[in-house]
Amino acid sequence: QAVPDAVLYLDGVSVVFDGFRALNNLSLIVEAGELRAIIGPNGAGKTTMMDVITGKTRPTAGVVRFHDHDLTRLDEATIANLGIGRKFQKPTMFDALTVFENLELALKAPRGPFSCLRWVLDRTSRQKIESTMAEVGLTARAHDRAGVLSHGQRQWLEIGMLLMQDPELLLVDEPVAGMTDQETEHTAALLVRIAGARSVVVVEHDLEFVRALGSKVTVLCEGSMLSEGSIDHVQNDPRVIEVYLGR
Ligand code: ADP
Repeated sequence: QAVPDAVLYLDGVSVVFDGFRALNNLSLIVEAGELRAIIGPNGAGKTTMMDVITGKTRPTAGVVRFHDHDLTRLDEATIANLGIGRKFQKPTMFDALTVFENLELALKAPRGPFSCLRWVLDRTSRQKIESTMAEVGLTARAHDRAGVLSHGQRQWLEIGMLLMQDPELLLVDEPVAGMTDQETEHTAALLVRIAGARSVVVVEHDLEFVRALGSKVTVLCEGSMLSEGSIDHVQNDPRVIEVYLGR
């Protein structure tokens, strides 16, 4: 079924593990250039949803599409190659390499999990690395090793590494966990900036951060969509209040 401008389209997606429904008839549409926040209590199915999109977990039922591609038939590497990048909570950079070198490696690496390769740097590549460093706010740290960066800077470097691969859809898992307030603000501004040219889906617990994103919010609970809309809308939704406060 065609949905205008849908980059990501989930319809009736269920995932059952040993009789337990981690996702239960979940539907979601993310449009081109959209920034979407996904919130929900622990066990709501947020990670499982990301795993279904990236091909790590197969849905038991339902449709998962990226443009016209049926993702339920594709493996993880193929899905990454279509232009879906995922940032996990734990960074996967090389601590002994500098910020610049990590970005360079990400540019030359195949999409998907990073591997160590030989590479040759041309001028276009250098410009792309420099513009990405500026975009994530790490220009001043270009020649510092990743291992000496702060927690926040490492997260931004990793987002930069994903951007080097030109994803059309970026999935970001709990980016501000453990960040200072200032780092959290920087991260919100960064994600707002990079959406637009691409779609970004962010899973996050920190509601102040989600508010700073200013984006549409989807609330998951028990594997289904509980509420959707602006942060004010979902925070005032009695069903959401019950789930967050009523336990
Ligand atoms: P969230 O990310 O919102 O905290 P998850 O997607 O990680 O939620 O988990 C949803 C539910 O599915 C949880 O109850 C979890 O225990 C269960 N679950 C997740 N992965 C598996 C698995 N591989 N096998 C069995 N149960 C799982």
